[in-house]
Amino acid sequence: MINRRRLKCISCGTKIITRTGIGHSNIQKHKFACPKCKIEIGFVLDLDQEAVSFEYREPTNAVWVDGEDSGDQSLLFYPEVMIPRNLPSPISPFVATVGNYKDIQQYQQYEATRRHYKDKFWPVIMRAYVHYETGNLGLLKKEIAGILPSVPDIAKPEERGGWILSVSRRFFDLFVVDPQLSEPIERAVAYAVHRSEKEVRHLAADYVKSGRMLALWKEIKSVRKQFLALYESLLPMLIVRRYWRDDQQNIGAYEVSIKNFEDLKGLYIDCVETTFRLLVIGLALELISTTGKPKIKTKTGEKTIWWFEQIANGVKYTQLKQHRMFDVFEPALDLGLRNGVGHHSAHYDVVSDEIIYVKADDENLAEVRVPYTEFVDKVFAAYCAFELATVFFHWFFVAGRGKLRKKRPKAK
Ligand SMILES: [Zn+2]
Repeated sequence: MINRRRLKCISCGTKIITRTGIGHSNIQKHKFACPKCKIEIGFVLDLDQEAVSFEYREPTNAVWVDGEDSGDQSLLFYPEVMIPRNLPSPISPFVATVGNYKDIQQYQQYEATRRHYKDKFWPVIMRAYVHYETGNLGLLKKEIAGILPSVPDIAKPEERGGWILSVSRRFFDLFVVDPQLSEPIERAVAYAVHRSEKEVRHLAADYVKSGRMLALWKEIKSVRKQFLALYESLLPMLIVRRYWRDDQQNIGAYEVSIKNFEDLKGLYIDCVETTFRLLVIGLALELISTTGKPKIKTKTGEKTIWWFEQIANGVKYTQLKQHRMFDVFEPALDLGLRNGVGHHSAHYDVVSDEIIYVKADDENLAEVRVPYTEFVDKVFAAYCAFELATVFFHWFFVAGRGKLRKKRPKAK
């Protein structure tokens, strides 16, 4: 469904017809440069998916005006799809991209499932997490029994921990490019446990005791919550990377019409930071599986995993690079972009449709520009790498016997 409105640039008075597709999220943020004076004009829709209604907020740098004149320029805003750049106006972006899918029916089935999971199952899983945290097994079972055909015996904490994380994994596998990528990680973890279960358990117990296990559990929850809240802005990339034919994945030829850099920036930074923290566990497990102990050899001698945890992410990356298993996490480890968008000067430029930030290059400040579509793609890739890194956490959590914190001594 396309909704038409007209707005007038507050600076130069140019009138523009906005043709806006109505999507599935609760909010749609659109921005564009005034075709005449290049001022940034923005408008936001608040959508109520339950009531199937929506409302426009007052635009920025423009006002809504009624009517339509024959000379008005019109602009198309279409959420949740890739829009070919310079798409001739009567053609829908759906029609223009339909030939890019490997199997469009498969996409449609999966997308219906994702939507159902996100709307109906995710709130249940969030409540189940709380019952897991407080140890309320009755309510935990009751919640999950409402969305799954059966609940196994979860009396033992270790089994309970493995189970709640596998429920989460099944859910989030739907939202990544390639769930199969977790297989080599699973094998590496299994090998670490086979090589020295004692070391793995010992380290996991240290994570529980020091509060790290609980901190990571919370961080993972927070990244996933943010991701689902921003899902519709990232959906075009999921479509391209999971459902389009390989020879059609040239995202440079497309734009997306949701421009929410400020929202995606936070998710991106959290994906990078949490992935680095999860890869501390990843490296420890890799070292146990190859050497039997979580010890890192450096030029200045042998170091512990706590040393590795404390060093800057850039230095961490040089350590991780020495193990091929971590190559697949590369998209989440782009510290140039991480530091660039983290700087308060980073912004979205509506005229060029790029993210712009500055980087010090000796005495000069170099300007870096990233096309917006490419930035969204990088955010999504970082999220997928984060999901992959949670596989380490999954088995490590089981090795820690599903405990989030050290048992408090019983009050007398
Ligand atoms: Zn203007």
